[in-house]
Amino acid sequence: MISCPFCGGLQLARGGQRRKSCPYCGKRFKVSEARVRKRFEDSRSASNYIRRIKEELRRADSK
Ligand SMILES: [Zn+2]
Repeated sequence: MISCPFCGGLQLARGGQRRKSCPYCGKRFKVSEARVRKRFEDSRSASNYIRRIKEELRRADSK
C-alpha cells in the first residue's frame, strides 16, 4: 500500500511494478518514490484495508 507523492491518495502497488499512475490525480510517479504506508502479505487483506479506509472517508465527508 502506497500513497501518491502528489495527492496522498492511497493505492495498491504490485510487487515488481515500478511506475504507476495515480487513480486520484492522474499523475505518474515511481513506486520507489511513493511513501509506503503498509505492507500486506496478500491482496485480499490489502483490498479489505482499502475498503475500510474508503468507508471512513465517506463517513467523514457526510458530516
Ligand atoms: Zn495522486
